[in-house]
Amino acid sequence: MKKSRQQVVITGDLDGDLPQPNQLSPYFALMRRYGVRGTFPATADFVESYPEVIEELLKGGHELAGHGDRHERFDGSWRGQKARLDDMRARIKQACGVTVVGFRPPWLAHNPATYQAMKEAGIEYSSMLLRKAFIHRLPPFGSIYRAPGFPGWAGLWGRISRRFYPQPPALPHWVDGIVEVPITGPDDHKLLDASGGPGFGAEEWEKVGAVWAAALDQTPGSGVFVLQAHPARMVGGFLGALDFFIGHARKTGAEFQSLHDIAAAFRARVRNHG
Ligand SMILES: [Zn+2]
Repeated sequence: MKKSRQQVVITGDLDGDLPQPNQLSPYFALMRRYGVRGTFPATADFVESYPEVIEELLKGGHELAGHGDRHERFDGSWRGQKARLDDMRARIKQACGVTVVGFRPPWLAHNPATYQAMKEAGIEYSSMLLRKAFIHRLPPFGSIYRAPGFPGWAGLWGRISRRFYPQPPALPHWVDGIVEVPITGPDDHKLLDASGGPGFGAEEWEKVGAVWAAALDQTPGSGVFVLQAHPARMVGGFLGALDFFIGHARKTGAEFQSLHDIAAAFRARVRNHG
């Protein structure tokens, strides 16, 4: 029997202001050097404001997904949310010619009506549930990442955490007619900026990369690992963390795909019983 390979998706949301549009170029250059394609959910506001970034992204063969019309929570009725998704898709299409089929809401904020809104708007997949590879609800989670020997004992820690905290599966699954591809934690925000987090600095990029590598090693062989590494955050020294992670994933024989690739393959394989 052929051993199934791990599938890895590099993702990073594009929103907010960029002091310099070309500050993301080293990120895309790193992806190009490895020949890796990823998925980047962008707000319509961002796509309209930074056409040169979107052009570079598309030239790299990456997938552009939707991150909302503007950087605000998705909540309320499905009709209101659908109107925003329609606006998002129309404006992105108008700005760069791409019809987005995937969606990740700002801050992953959504409610049960979001799934109906996505279905009515023609969205095929979402990536908005968080699967935590390590426990980090137990305070203070930051010190765990700085404890001696970490991530040597990360596997054991992960098993304990999964026992006590129910999580979405590591695989794509149906939620109300939408294919959901969960994000694997911890994301860059948690490790770099979150209050109570380890607050890793740029010179500690190797630790950030090692945490991600350990999280990948915990993902079951047939699982899908979705990394959240924002291009606007992975600048300067921090880019080393992404370099470290991609190099590690390569060594383990993982396959790099886009979220759309993953969702489409799942859709073709598993009929919707939801
Ligand atoms: Zn965002």
